Amino acid sequence: MIDINPDIEFKKEVKRLSNSSLNECMQCGNCSVVCTLAPDDSPFPRKEMIWAGWGMKEKLIVDTDIWLCHQCGDCSTHCPRGVKPADVFSAIRQITYRHYARPKFLNTILSKPIWLPVAIMLPVIVILSIIFMAGTLQIPEGVVNYSKFFPHAWLNGSFGIITLIIYCFAISGLLKFRSDLKAGYQDTKARNGFLKRFIDTSNEIILHSKFSSCSAQKSRKWSHLLVFYGFIMLLFVTGFAIIATLTHNYPLKFTNPVKIMGNVAGLMLVTGLGIMIINRLFNKKNYGNSNYSDWLLLISFFLLVISGGIIELARFMNWYYAYHLYFFHLVCVWFVVFYLPYAKFGHVLYRTIAIGFAKSIDRSSTR
Ligand code: SF4
Ligand code: SF4
Repeated sequence: MIDINPDIEFKKEVKRLSNSSLNECMQCGNCSVVCTLAPDDSPFPRKEMIWAGWGMKEKLIVDTDIWLCHQCGDCSTHCPRGVKPADVFSAIRQITYRHYARPKFLNTILSKPIWLPVAIMLPVIVILSIIFMAGTLQIPEGVVNYSKFFPHAWLNGSFGIITLIIYCFAISGLLKFRSDLKAGYQDTKARNGFLKRFIDTSNEIILHSKFSSCSAQKSRKWSHLLVFYGFIMLLFVTGFAIIATLTHNYPLKFTNPVKIMGNVAGLMLVTGLGIMIINRLFNKKNYGNSNYSDWLLLISFFLLVISGGIIELARFMNWYYAYHLYFFHLVCVWFVVFYLPYAKFGHVLYRTIAIGFAKSIDRSSTR
């Protein structure tokens, strides 16, 4: 027997984020039939559509199946009522990582366009304050050298501390999410040990294998792979650059292999993000509804990569506005890295936990 504890605000939020007419779902089951990722046993998304229509937030935010969906859009394409289950799932994922993320005010300022000025002003004020405390808050004279504007020790130290704080909160949210998932499946015994589920989860994420089953959105796999590996390469390059600043070997020469790797990563990211943006703009029928959170992630990530390339050029060309562009780039870094657990990018962290849990209870596609 299922306890129904409707949360009307939750239902309204799902409808707002997905732009779906939830009540029109007639439970025909077409969506579950066409979904190649749904297990035979209690398949998704039909059952979640009725739960969403009833506002069953408590059940949905601990439903592993929500994260097994890779938003291929096949179910939405075949839904006879145009209810868009793929977008409903995306909305529920968004509500879930917001539910677990702390502190709450960061959730709030990233949730709606009306808060965007606050979301921008926060990094602007914090970064300006740090540079002010470093005593370098002015445009330096002479050859462009970003460390004269924001000394490396201050940059590494302050951004390191902020990263630590943000990700401590993120880890506590993820642990709570994992323990709630377990509580939601308390009648199901773990069937696979840690090593097996670690290998299976890593394989799935490294290869993005589940994306191959999409028929409505064929380019999704490649755009996600380009962004995924481009981002990992960029993280490596950033780590290397931090070490180089500590050993006074920064900036890197243009011919340095790590520098070349950074530029290749930038190209991969621009290509992957460009494909995603074009698909969302011009192929709405197959790629579904794009809400504020989708655009916030895509645009801030795109601006981060583009501004990274431009400040490299600005330093090389000794442009007067190099420092202004550098400051803009730092704000973009803040948006992508520090807002990650609160924005659409958060699904990367939560999906990894959910897939790992699904592997432990052997809940995956058998088709
Ligand atoms: S979402 Fe559409 S396809 Fe799925 S059960 Fe409802 S009406 Fe049928
Ligand atoms: S979007 Fe794709 S993976 Fe997700 S429920 Fe629909 S058909 Fe299945």
